[in-house]
Amino acid sequence: MAKQRRIYEGKTKDLFEGPEPGTLVQHFRDDATAFNNKKRGTITGKGVLNNRISEYLMLRLHDIGVPTHFIRRLNMREQLIREVEIIPVKISIRNVAAGSMSERFGIDEGTPLPRSIVEYYWKNDEHSSPMISEEHITAFGWAAPQDIDDMLALSLRINDYLSGLLFGAGVKLIDFKLEFGRSYDENGEMRILIADEISPDTCRLWDVETQEKLDKDRFRLDMSGVAEAYQEVARRLGVLPTSAPGDVTELKTMQ
Ligand code: C5P
Repeated sequence: MAKQRRIYEGKTKDLFEGPEPGTLVQHFRDDATAFNNKKRGTITGKGVLNNRISEYLMLRLHDIGVPTHFIRRLNMREQLIREVEIIPVKISIRNVAAGSMSERFGIDEGTPLPRSIVEYYWKNDEHSSPMISEEHITAFGWAAPQDIDDMLALSLRINDYLSGLLFGAGVKLIDFKLEFGRSYDENGEMRILIADEISPDTCRLWDVETQEKLDKDRFRLDMSGVAEAYQEVARRLGVLPTSAPGDVTELKTMQ
């Protein structure tokens, strides 16, 4: 496909104009960031793997009737997506204490939570994406109460489904983050879709047996084998590219 105009440069992905109105091309780069952009690096081959992993998980969600922005994968690093109006609210769903939940509440990492806990964050890098409540979301007009209900119901359903799917691949879903967008049909009817990506960049994934981290925490914590962890997740899901280009067969991490 001829290169289209880039309309957005994110921390790890770019968005280009799509071939048809209402579509965009999402391009996955190898850049990695953590701690609100304070730590930056490159994980060679990550973009290729996240493109595949996110494609796979979005397709499985589609299979169970969860609407997503994903249309189809175009090539190693790009996928065609529906253009949506991004809702500036990120939702984290947690099953086991880790990351900011462990820090904030002093709960040992790895402690199972009494039930799945859902948190809202304002999607705003400049203000380090603070945690918010439903009050902020409705008062500032980011989403209506009905939208929040829909996002919450979708989040819990996705958590249940992905927890089971990943467990079958020997992977425990510790926590993950979702982003949402509004899409309008020809009659002006609005529906909420899952946007962005679902990958080891946006989920905490541990090996069921060994509790080994298979996600971006390896990068955050300066652990070895970052790219290999992403590769392992792709392998277990059956989406590791077989005829991978050099940048995936020779995975290595640079910081
Ligand atoms: O850092 P924290 O513990 O709050 O992260 C919760 C979950 O959300 C983790 O799976 C993390 O990878 C994901 N997350 C994300 N993008 C962010 C912040 C967190 O995908 N900007």
